[in-house]
Amino acid sequence: MYFRIGYGIDVHRLGPDIPLYVGGIEIPSDIGAIGHSDADVLLHAICDALLGAANLRDIGYHFPDTDPQYKGIDSKVLLHKVYDLITAEGCEIVNLDCTVVLEYPKLNPHIEKMQAVIASTLHLDIDKVSIKATTHEQVDSFGRAEAIKAYAACLLTK
Ligand code: MG
Repeated sequence: MYFRIGYGIDVHRLGPDIPLYVGGIEIPSDIGAIGHSDADVLLHAICDALLGAANLRDIGYHFPDTDPQYKGIDSKVLLHKVYDLITAEGCEIVNLDCTVVLEYPKLNPHIEKMQAVIASTLHLDIDKVSIKATTHEQVDSFGRAEAIKAYAACLLTK
């Protein structure tokens, strides 16, 4: 048995009057993330971290945004497919540590619910899913709330 580290990053543009999904839940907001799927930046970063740790390419390789079957798809479905892919390789998740960069609305009131949803999708204890939220201090496109970004790191055993 040995350890494998992985990390992922994702960015989506923000726009008015569309839903904002982060960490598998809808966040009450007057701006939402634009994308082919439900544009859940955190779940996409986690998918890439897990795939990377297992050396299984990336989310765009497995679920191309040109494929109509993924239009508007709930990213929890993608995350669970990634879980199946890494499990088939004999990998087991030790822990995840993630950061979401969003100027507003504040994500902190929703973190525990996100942790529960992600832990349940990946068959993990909540204790193994860390999610942090930060703003971009009004700097650059993220600070102007034009985009949302997420980073995820994971450790797997194989
Ligand atoms: Mg994405």
